[in-house]
Amino acid sequence: SISGLQNFKVITMLGEGGFGCVYKVKHIYDRKIYAVKRVILTRKADSEVMTLARLDHPNIVRYITCWTDSDDWTSNQERNQVSNTSSDVVTFDREGCEERDDDDEDDEDEDDVTSGMESLSVTESASAAAEASGNNRTDSSRTYLFIQMEFCEGGTLTDWIKARNQMEKQRSIVEIHKIFYEIITGVEYIHAEKLIHRDLKPDNILFGADGKVKIGDFGLVAAQTDQNGDPIERSNRGTPTYMSPEQKNKKNYDEKTDIFPLGLVWFEMLWKISTGSERVKLWPDLKGQRFPEGFSDSYQTESKFITKMLSHSPEHRPHAKDIKEKLEKFFSLDQNLLSQKTI
Ligand code: ATP
Ligand code: MG
Ligand code: MG
Repeated sequence: SISGLQNFKVITMLGEGGFGCVYKVKHIYDRKIYAVKRVILTRKADSEVMTLARLDHPNIVRYITCWTDSDDWTSNQERNQVSNTSSDVVTFDREGCEERDDDDEDDEDEDDVTSGMESLSVTESASAAAEASGNNRTDSSRTYLFIQMEFCEGGTLTDWIKARNQMEKQRSIVEIHKIFYEIITGVEYIHAEKLIHRDLKPDNILFGADGKVKIGDFGLVAAQTDQNGDPIERSNRGTPTYMSPEQKNKKNYDEKTDIFPLGLVWFEMLWKISTGSERVKLWPDLKGQRFPEGFSDSYQTESKFITKMLSHSPEHRPHAKDIKEKLEKFFSLDQNLLSQKTI
């Protein structure tokens, strides 16, 4: 069994990334299926879990709870110090703490949501505990953070696109507009919460048990501005295939960076791409707002939207809110239709 997952039966591994992995698990007491993401405890992980815990929306993956695998964390006196704040370790009182000078090698990002805050929580306490017990931060002695979420049984949008490209399933234009509307609704909420997701792509867009879109993977989430409302100098991390030009090249970018990948995603949902080489050929054209023959004729309204979303000047891209309103207008997505199961 995996240290830190004692209360669960691991069913399968759902995904593996640079900093951790996601398991499909069954809780041994409540017998329910969950997804648990295991990540190395860094400021990045702290920011991911804090964000997920705070977000509450039908189109965002639902957070359940979190814990670490550090014995020190659960057994030493530090536990007593935070015990009256219950298991909600990421939100315990930060007042009076000094800002941490973070020199974790996995954690070059200076622009995450925790930067500029009074201090950190899980990261600081648990790594202090690990250091106190004489652990060098070698791989086996790292502290891991476990994030328990709702299990999205409908799989990812990548699966959805693959099934359609392989002709196992027909594309339905109503279904596409509904899915895209839910994605935009989730992103509108993220932006209204003054955050930037920074890693929107089909792998990070899931379908829940309710058949609705659930945006996941807040591993790169960042605040839109610093505490004074000023722009933040940012890193260029993200997924190159989907990244906006400014996220790749500039030190300053805002929430409009999330609109660019959504233009690519919408196109991929509409247009059948049969092979990997076809995709490789088509991609640079698409990023330059050039569509394959027939696309603009088949999808006049959509291609106009997508062109704007793929604009290389972020200020010319529409806000998530505008796209949502236009979708309602152009595709008459009324509340009746929207309340029906999507997939
Ligand atoms: P990082 O934060 O380092 O970028 P990552 O990209 O590996 O991590 P996620 O995108 O959160 O992590 O998860 C990896 C994969 O696991 C997803 O692409 C998806 O296939 C699966 N997955 C993640 N969360 C869930 C969930 N709640 N339900 C079902 N599957 C999930
Ligand atoms: Mg991911
Ligand atoms: Mg990721």
